Amino acid sequence: MKIEIAFLYNDLMNIYGDRGNVITLTRRCEWRGIEAKVTPLTVGDKLDPDKYDLYFFGGGQDREQYTVADDLKGEKGRLLKQAATEGAVILGICGGYQLLGHYYRPFEGPDLPGIGALDIHTIAGHQRYIGNVVVETAFGTLVAFENHSGKTYLGSQAHPLGKSVIGGGNNGEDSTEGAIQQNVFGCYLHGSLLPKNPHFADHLLKLALQRRYGAVELSPLDNKLEEAAHHSAMQRARETR
Ligand code: GLN
Repeated sequence: MKIEIAFLYNDLMNIYGDRGNVITLTRRCEWRGIEAKVTPLTVGDKLDPDKYDLYFFGGGQDREQYTVADDLKGEKGRLLKQAATEGAVILGICGGYQLLGHYYRPFEGPDLPGIGALDIHTIAGHQRYIGNVVVETAFGTLVAFENHSGKTYLGSQAHPLGKSVIGGGNNGEDSTEGAIQQNVFGCYLHGSLLPKNPHFADHLLKLALQRRYGAVELSPLDNKLEEAAHHSAMQRARETR
C-alpha cells in the first residue's frame, strides 16, 4: 500500500516541532512496509484534492497565520475543504486547527478567515494556556503540550476530540479539547502529539488508508518506547499543573 501525505505550510506552521507528527506517520507506515510519500505544500503551491490521503497542518504564531490565511482565501482553501468533504484525513494543530474553522479573531485587526472544514470559530483571549496536558478521548488518553491564547468554540456540526483532564482545552470554559468533523481532527495538542500517542497515529493512518484501499488492518508494532514517553509525559502533566 501507499499513502500520500501533504505537509501544509511546512515552512511556516511548524512550531514546537509539530513536524514530529509527519515523521511519526511516515515511520509507522515504513515499519509496516507501507510506502509513505510526503509533499510539502506551502504558499503559492497548487493543491490537488484527489492526490492526498492525509493532510498535516501544524501550529504557528499569529503572524504566520496571517500569511497562511491569505494563501487559503479562494481556490486553495476551497479545494482543501473539498478534500475534507470527500473524506480526506486532516490533522490540524493549534494555529492550523484554528484556520480549519470559520475564522480566527486575533487581538487586533480583522478576522482571519478559515476554510470552514470544521464548524468552529476562535477568538484570541487574554489568558495564554501553556503547559503539559492530558485529554481523555474515544481513541484513548492523549498526552501533549499546549501554548495558545485562542479560545475555540464548537458549532453543532463538530464534536469534541475529547475531555480536557489537565490543561486549558479549547477555551478554558467547557472542558472540551479539539474538534472532529468527518475525518478532520483539530486540537491544541503540540508535543509533538503523535510520537507519544501511537494509538491515535495508527487511527489516522487506518482512516486514510481505508479510504483508498477499503478495510485495512495495521500490523501491530512494538510501542515500548512510545508508551514509555507517553507515561513520562503523563507524570509531568500531573506534577506540573
Ligand atoms: N494564534 C494562536 C494562539 O495563540 C496559535 C498559536 C499556536 O499555533 N501555538 O492561539
